Amino acid sequence: LRDILKDKSLLKEKCYIDGKWVSGTETIDVTNPVNEDVIAAVPNLGQAEAKAAIEAAGKAQKAWGAKPAKERAAILRKWFNLMMENQEDLAQIMTAEQGKPLAESRGEIAYGASFVEFFAEEAKRIYGETIPSPWPHARIVTIRQPIGVVAAITPWNFPNAMITRKAGPALAAGCTFVCKPASETPLSALALCELAERAGIPAGVFNILTGKARPIGAELTSNPLVRILTFTGSTEIGKLLMQQCATTVKKVGLELGGNAPFIVFDDADLDAAVQGAMASKYRNAGQTCVCANRILVQDKVYDAFAAKFAEAVNKLKVGNGVEQGITTGPLINEAAVKKVREHIDDAVSKGAKIVVGGKELGGNFFEPTILRDVTTKMAVAREETFGPVAPLFRFSTEEEAIRMANDTEFGLACYFYSRDIGRIWRVAEGLEYGMVGINEGIISTEVAPFGGVKESGIGREGSRHGVEEFTEIKYMLMGGL
Ligand code: ADP
Repeated sequence: LRDILKDKSLLKEKCYIDGKWVSGTETIDVTNPVNEDVIAAVPNLGQAEAKAAIEAAGKAQKAWGAKPAKERAAILRKWFNLMMENQEDLAQIMTAEQGKPLAESRGEIAYGASFVEFFAEEAKRIYGETIPSPWPHARIVTIRQPIGVVAAITPWNFPNAMITRKAGPALAAGCTFVCKPASETPLSALALCELAERAGIPAGVFNILTGKARPIGAELTSNPLVRILTFTGSTEIGKLLMQQCATTVKKVGLELGGNAPFIVFDDADLDAAVQGAMASKYRNAGQTCVCANRILVQDKVYDAFAAKFAEAVNKLKVGNGVEQGITTGPLINEAAVKKVREHIDDAVSKGAKIVVGGKELGGNFFEPTILRDVTTKMAVAREETFGPVAPLFRFSTEEEAIRMANDTEFGLACYFYSRDIGRIWRVAEGLEYGMVGINEGIISTEVAPFGGVKESGIGREGSRHGVEEFTEIKYMLMGGL
């Protein structure tokens, strides 16, 4: 990996705590999911180092928070510029550790950097308010202050953007940041530290430590200096961390699992629906929390949609993401392949038919798959597959589609295709989800609030709402006038 980087210093095998590069006595191997080759090793740190990082962040916070927003904005803007100048190297590092095709990695670097750009600008717009007073002798004012030290735990499916989407607004608000990235993809996180240092982010403001999830998580969720835990990952771990945060009453921001419905009504533009379904389902080999997990198709267009969709899926090319023309990389590991296998076997045993794909291709590779005649009795209806499997369900009425779509404990993203203006409003308002893609399969952008309802999470990331998460409102009553 080092050989192909233009700037070799972006490949870091040390953690970044309090502005220093830290090694560990033990290390964790980082492997390429394409062939399981070891590409690097990072420190396997624990609770003591997490405590040290939090204390450093605590010390750095006062000065960082006291800087005029314009100064923080200028530093963040530099960080953004450095990410874009090094986009190609950062994309190579990401593909090597995560497996997504290079084009997708380049896209993620731009997407990840956009949060730093957006919140650098937003830093200057963290407004308070004046409130008409009920008393003649007093006035009421509110200000927004940084919440303090932010702890973050991030997943492997977006190794860059899931960090910047949290760090961008946190740093913009004047908070300091301690993050434990997923052990599968620590290199993208550590490369961000190198660029943070070059951008002039002061020591202690941005810290990344790799290592043992449980003891580090225990410290991040119990240390009283930490005022908010922001987590992206599974609902199971999210619930556990939320519980752990209860003992010190921390605020939590949770971006958890989804079970996204993708509804195709009979008045939809079918070609557009196929294009949207391709992007939503097969991006990152189906490993995103907003990937279409259940495709609901109305009776009348079920066969036509299935045929067109199959034609498009047959054009996907599975392979090593660094090669030209590859659209689908490997899954992250063997366990992911096993889950996909189980979901397909379960569906087929209960009557579903395989339209395309359905087989392992060796290593961590799996064929992009379409299943038809899928029913709500099958595991794919309830659980997030997190792989390249598109199950096609059938419905007859609009009410039935909404009912089926909402029949889940999750509520992150949903999608539907229709050209009927009345239906569009009815369905969009009826779906119990945080985000709705209407005639679009890709909805993520730094300017809009990303987040879920029900067991998909708490809070929003991105947009002006994203920065509010990292502030506290202080109300001041000025009396004695
Ligand atoms: P995934 O299934 O996508 O790996 P997880 O929720 O298991 O989702 O992982 C998301 C992040 O949470 C990763 O950084 C992982 O290391 C971390 N993590 C997993 N278990 C724990 C735990 N018990 N305490 C703290 N962090 C954890």
